[in-house]
Amino acid sequence: LDWKIILNGSTGNVVGAVKAASLGGRILEKGSSALDAVEASIAMMEDDPKFDAGTGCDINVFGLIMMDASIMDGKELRTGAVGAVRGVKNPIRVARKLMEHTNHVLLVGEGAEEFAKTMAKTEPSVIASYDARTEDKKRKLREKLGAIIDEDLVKDLLLEPEGTPMTLFKLIENGRLSSLQQKLASLSQFGTVSASALDKDGNFAAGASTGGWTLSLPGRIGDSPLAGCGAYADNSSGCSSTAGIRGEENVRLGGLTRRVCDLMEKGLSAQRAVDSVTAYAFDKIGLTLKKGSLISIDNNGEIGYNFQQKAAAQSLALMEEGMEKPLAPLKTR
Ligand code: ASP
Repeated sequence: LDWKIILNGSTGNVVGAVKAASLGGRILEKGSSALDAVEASIAMMEDDPKFDAGTGCDINVFGLIMMDASIMDGKELRTGAVGAVRGVKNPIRVARKLMEHTNHVLLVGEGAEEFAKTMAKTEPSVIASYDARTEDKKRKLREKLGAIIDEDLVKDLLLEPEGTPMTLFKLIENGRLSSLQQKLASLSQFGTVSASALDKDGNFAAGASTGGWTLSLPGRIGDSPLAGCGAYADNSSGCSSTAGIRGEENVRLGGLTRRVCDLMEKGLSAQRAVDSVTAYAFDKIGLTLKKGSLISIDNNGEIGYNFQQKAAAQSLALMEEGMEKPLAPLKTR
């Protein structure tokens, strides 16, 4: 089978997706593993301020950044993930280290941070004690909030260094938190990221990374760090990953990427599996892939992808054997 990697940047940053796909392609071309390609290309997108992952992450209601990421190895069905983690530069690298150095699959919060710090001592690729919040990011969020909520709440939000639980209680009390989150989500320009890859040896890997949603509650974990939800890989079926859909809905449905892989194992093509799962998600709970996409590679090496808005298509990028540069954006199917 030809090697390939397909990336999902979920909104608008086609340049970033192309760069990351060509990095993934170079790694696969020289014969390295699908896991290496997924890790490196997601890490590159995490470093790009125009994605909602790593450096570009959204700020939550306590004025903090909390990140989720997962990676999965289809050869041995191994996975590693971190949730609600702060202070690391590339959560995807921490997820991979967890997969390789422990027998756990998911670490959250402080534990994940301590693990990252320990790894950082000997592994130069892991960078801990990193704060992705910038004054600019805080200022922009304050402006957006200022336009939709009254001044005293805005003042309370984003206080240094920990924000204030009072703000949260006020927002929940007067029933405004979810409408606020929705308004901010519609204003958010940047998307979260995922990757699916097949290497020269026929191994599949997938991963996902996110900063979640602007103003989510501290401690909230979405779909990205949950195996079968954000990403899934199994050499006998292929791999699938997603970004840009509300994690809560993906989890409620028990994991869309696992479902895609199940259908591919039964013999459906990557595209038909993705189409079928997209239809299922809509029929069950009305889930649409507004800003996001579900992507996959089947065990014949065919790709599948789906999105419902042009913006989401714009940051899908594909790089495969024989291509000189990544194909992006991908055509509507
Ligand atoms: N799925 C992510 C989450 O809910 C968000 C996104 O992909 O945009 O955390």
